[in-house]
This record gives sequence, C-alpha cells and structure tokens, in this order.
Amino acid sequence: MEVRNSNRDDRETTDFVRAIVREDLQAGKNGGRVATRFPPEPNGYLHIGHAKSICLNFGIAREYGGTCNLRFDDTNPAKEEVEYVEAIKEDVRWLGFDWGDGLYFASDYFERLYGYAVQLIRLGKAYVDSLTAEEIRAYRGTLTEPGKESPYRNRSVEENLDLFTRMRAGEFEDGSHVLRARIDMASANLNMRDPTLYRIRRMAHHRTGDKWCIYPMYDFAHSLSDSLEGITHSICTLEFEDHRPLYDWFQETLKVERRSRQIEFARLNLNYTVMSKRKLLELVQEGLVRGWDDPRMPTICGLRRRGYTPESIRNFCERIGVARRDNVMDVALLEHSLREDLNLRAPRVMCVLRPLRLIIDNYPEGRVEELQAVNNPEDPSAGTRPVPFSRELYIEQEDFLENPPKKFFRLAPGRTVRLRYGYLVTCTNAVKNDKGEVTEVHCSYDPDSLSGEAGGPRAKATLHWVSAAHSLPAEVRLYDRLFMSENPGEGKEDFKADLNPDSLKVLQSCRMEPSLAGAQPGGRYQFERLGYFCVDPDSCPGSLVFNRTVTLRDQWAKIVRGGAL
Ligand code: ATP
Ligand code: MG
Repeated sequence: MEVRNSNRDDRETTDFVRAIVREDLQAGKNGGRVATRFPPEPNGYLHIGHAKSICLNFGIAREYGGTCNLRFDDTNPAKEEVEYVEAIKEDVRWLGFDWGDGLYFASDYFERLYGYAVQLIRLGKAYVDSLTAEEIRAYRGTLTEPGKESPYRNRSVEENLDLFTRMRAGEFEDGSHVLRARIDMASANLNMRDPTLYRIRRMAHHRTGDKWCIYPMYDFAHSLSDSLEGITHSICTLEFEDHRPLYDWFQETLKVERRSRQIEFARLNLNYTVMSKRKLLELVQEGLVRGWDDPRMPTICGLRRRGYTPESIRNFCERIGVARRDNVMDVALLEHSLREDLNLRAPRVMCVLRPLRLIIDNYPEGRVEELQAVNNPEDPSAGTRPVPFSRELYIEQEDFLENPPKKFFRLAPGRTVRLRYGYLVTCTNAVKNDKGEVTEVHCSYDPDSLSGEAGGPRAKATLHWVSAAHSLPAEVRLYDRLFMSENPGEGKEDFKADLNPDSLKVLQSCRMEPSLAGAQPGGRYQFERLGYFCVDPDSCPGSLVFNRTVTLRDQWAKIVRGGAL
C-alpha cells in the first residue's frame, strides 16, 4: 500500500540514518540495493516505540526503492506465542506497511545457524563450556576488571564437535553446557568476552516444535539472519551499539558472502508512558488494564482502539525524527498529531455526556424541525445533515448553573445562549428534586433567531444539545493518562504505584444525536465542544459504546506552529 507519493529525495530529509543509506548508494555499495528489516521478538504486542522503528525501516525501503523484511526474532521459546505473531502482522499492516514476500522467522534459520556454529568450532572460534551460569557470570569480569578464561576454553575441536552434537541430540540437562564464541576474555567490551552462542532449553518452540533443544542467542542469530537475508542496513536501537563489534565479528569470522551494516538510533521514550514489554505484560496479567488493546495502553492495538489513525502515528514518527541521542518526547506531541489529523477527517456530531433536561415552554408540543448541521467545517464537501429539534432537549449538566460566577457565560436563570445550529433560548427557571439537584431547566425561545439568520441578539455562548425524544442512549468511556507521573516508577519500587486511579471513567447515560444510529466500530467523530471519540468494538446498534480518543484542547499547537519543531 502506498502511503506517501512524494519521493523522499525531493524533500529535505536529513536524518543521519538516511544520510548513511544515501552515501552507501552513492558509493555503489551493495550493488545499489537497500534492504532493511523490522525484527520484533514475538513476546508481546507492538507499541508506539516499535512504530518509530517500523516507520524508519519500511520508510527507508520505500524511499530508496528497497525492501523491508518482517522478521520474527523467535529464538527464545520460553516467552513466544503465535498470538503475538499474528497481532504484530496486523499492526504493521494497519500502520500502512507491506513486507511483500519478506516474511521470515529466525527459527527458519536454525539449521543454517547450527551450521555456522559448527563452522566456528572448526575454526577454533567456539567452544563448549561446562561452567555453571553463575560461574560464567563470575568469570566474565567487570568494566574495570578483565574476565577469566574458562578451564574448558581450550577443549579440542573434536571434543567441542562431539559435545555440541550431543547437546543438540538432547543428551544433557538445561544449563549443563553452553556453546561460546572464543574471542577475548580481556576485551574492554564485555560483549566480546566469549559471548554465549547456544544454550540448552528442553522446551517446545511455537514453530519448530520439539525439533530443537538448543537455541541460539540473540546476537549470534541476529547478525547471521541479517546476512542470510541480504540486509544492507540493520537499524537498531542504541543499546546495541556495544554489540556492534560482535555483530561484525560473526560476519567477518565466518566470511559471509553478504555483509550488513548495523546502525543505531535513539529509541523513542514518551513521558507518562511505560514501554517495556515486561511492564505492559504485567499490567495485562494483573488485570490493571482490560488487555493489550485497552485504549489506555501505548500498544498499537490500544492506540487503534482508542481511535488513533495510522496517519497520525506516521506523522508523529516523522515529526520526532531520528537521532543518535536518547531523549524523552512529550506525549502531548503524539496527541497533537492525532488532533491535527482528526480535525480534518472526523465528522462533527452533537452528543451530551451528562444530560440535563431542557424544556422550551413556548415551543409547540409535538412539533419537530429538521435543522441543518455542518458535518465538517474543515471540509465543505462533507455537507450537512438534518438534526431534529423539539420542545424537550438535553444539554450538559455543566452548561447550566443556578448561581453562576462572573466568568460563566453559559446558561443560568435570565441568561440567553444559542443552541448550536438552532435558536436562542433564555432560561426562565430551574426545577430541583428534594436533594436540591437541578433536574430540569425551563427556557423560552426566540422563533426569529434561527442560526444563520440575520438579526436578533447575539449570545455569549453556544451549547450543543440533542432532542430528548430522538436521541440515542450510549455509553461513553473517558480515558485519561494511565500514569500520573512523567517518568512512571522513578524513585519507586514499583512503577504501578504511579498508576492513575482515574484513568477510566465510564458514563452510562449519555445521549447521542440520531445520525449515530448506524455508527460502526472504528468510526471516528468529533463530539462538538467535547473532543474526538470513536466507536468501540463493544458497540452494537441499540447499545452504542464510544471511547474518548482525545480532548479538543491542544497545548502543542502553539509550540509546533511557532516553529519550535
Ligand atoms: P524486549 O527486547 O524488551 O523484548 P524490544 O522493545 O527490544 O523489547 P523487540 O521486539 O526486540 O522489542 O523490538 C523490535 C524492534 O523494535 C527492535 O529493532 C527494536 O530496536 C525496536 N524498538 C523497540 N522499542 C523501541 C523504541 N522504544 N523506539 C524505537 N525502536 C524500538
Ligand atoms: Mg529486543
């Protein structure tokens, strides 16, 4: 699917990753090919941080006439599930990207990776170590102290081949042996101190079943999978910078035909958000959210259910750019990108979240007028729709105050307001129950004041409303930030201590204008004066459920327009 038509070369793009790709192309490297990959581990759902990596990898492939593979890094059978594989594919597609024929699994390479390991043993560059995991850790040394060589480091090639074959054959218990690269225990880079290549894990794998009981480690599998797929630019996050010498070591030592270049960029961090898959899983497993796709989650499926558009996420990723240094982005910028997009595309409708009955005493009983409401002021082609107006309406409870303070311009006894697309009404009195709560507001209307007509007094406020008899009941779920602090968990033992107890409020007696009768899950609307909302998958005709996607106020608009970004 083509997302953007303009060619990247026409635009001024200067991120350092694209600059490297261009340089390599100009230098004629890789025979003019550009091949990237997005390599998720299927141990959780994708989140907004992954979206940055997806936009970068698939974006570069598209802009430079290359390819981008979707490769599942499924080397750890313990945590991986088929459910995640399917969800990840759906999310990448939803974001607007297509891997074509390039769908791969690291597990497809297990046989070839095993072959590479045997080759390393033959070269004297790998050995079977029989120290315990604890001993290996202790022998590894520290940043200031060199490591110590394992007593098994000088096993003969024959002995290593024999042991490794038997590891594969399932003769040994988990943890009794590992295969390690034989590099340098005194290296300043800890990753080069004889890193583990294979460990024994007698555990079924979601794709290879019981075929294997030894599994390759990430660094080894990743570097060689890149080479096997002919990846030219292997783009990853900064924490892999120290792994690059090892990444290169595998390809050099094995003299692979196709070399790839690892490039590290800063991962996306967002304030008020946790992005670690472990933490997100914890929230799901402990029932602190409704699931991976809870609209408060920073997962792609959560954002989708919340009402985010793929365009808004892509625009956000473009806006934040790609840098070499870690930083924390303001989640308000993500919301800004969303508002910007929804403002252009979301039809406007009128809905009342907390209804208060408003009765127009001088409006004829039984009369219904069809007023014309504008569907989208940003898009004249969206046209208008009829909205029924009658004697009994609902307005928001908060739009009426019996004793208003000075700055309150909405409805109050004696005050006149405009009803959106309708008439001016003047409040005559309010009716209260025995608890002293206002249950009804009475008004009179000016029949000559229909919106759009000249003349009549202007009102200081315009209220949204629905006709009581014509409106539809609905549930509306109001979301707020999932965490109360900018950096959840900072200085605390448990990040969950920062969960916002008010991150979800459910309103069950909302009233919608009748045009929403056929609203389909995924549909996005602007509820006038209230914000952007979308129809939840829980919704069905007769029992509508909406999520608040985002409020209307935008603290980023000024900053962005002011040129700071
Ligand atoms: P973990 O390693 O904890 O399981 P991960 O976030 O690294 O989690 P992967 O599935 O390995 O998850 O990530 C797939 C790709 O997405 C990797 O290339 C990784 O660098 C990239 N990625 C992950 N998180 C972010 C982020 N916050 N910003 C940018 N890229 C990210
Ligand atoms: Mg990872």
